[in-house]
Amino acid sequence: MDPSALFTISYGLYILCAEHDGRKNGCVINTLSQVTEEPLTVSIIVMKKNLTHDFVKASGRFSISVLGKHVPMELIKRFGFQSGRDVDKFKDFECSKFDTGDVLIRCGCIAALSCKVINAVDFPTHTVFYARVEDATKLENDKPMTYELYRDLKTGKVKPDEEESDKVPLPAGEPEKKEYWQCSVCHYVYDGDIPFEDLPDDYICPLCGQPKAVFEKHKG
Ligand code: FE
Repeated sequence: MDPSALFTISYGLYILCAEHDGRKNGCVINTLSQVTEEPLTVSIIVMKKNLTHDFVKASGRFSISVLGKHVPMELIKRFGFQSGRDVDKFKDFECSKFDTGDVLIRCGCIAALSCKVINAVDFPTHTVFYARVEDATKLENDKPMTYELYRDLKTGKVKPDEEESDKVPLPAGEPEKKEYWQCSVCHYVYDGDIPFEDLPDDYICPLCGQPKAVFEKHKG
């Protein structure tokens, strides 16, 4: 079997938000799918180690903000790579609320959904939540960010103002070529301030939860 075959699967990029006990939290996910149209049902898959996972489970509600192509990288960084246990992720970013009470991120997002959980399926590392969409709204006018484009922006293969279709390999000898560490399972590119080699042995991929050992060094 060639597990890299699964790297060809396309994903979008979203911020999942949930509130519990008066606290709100959010995290980046790439696993939103529409399940049925009538009734309007979606599914998300969330890593159990995320605090937001516990908030969704406890409250039975969540919102999804769909990231646009020109979303500030700072927003992805805040919600993707920092823990709500350490920082107020919502500080500095424009938010609002649905009539249902669900909080949503507006900054850099093109649409948002307000969802009520109707079923959950337990896996050892993740939970699949099925939810009814109770409200939906369009926000900014932009194309959706894809997980692939995000990775290309991170590794310098594409510059922020280039269209996805304009993707061209950088010329040989381009000084922007730099080393980076990438999760071999989900393609997440490590972006922390601490050099990857100096991270503790129990570091895990913030997107898929795999251990440090599955990361590979790349240049490009
Ligand atoms: Fe990963």
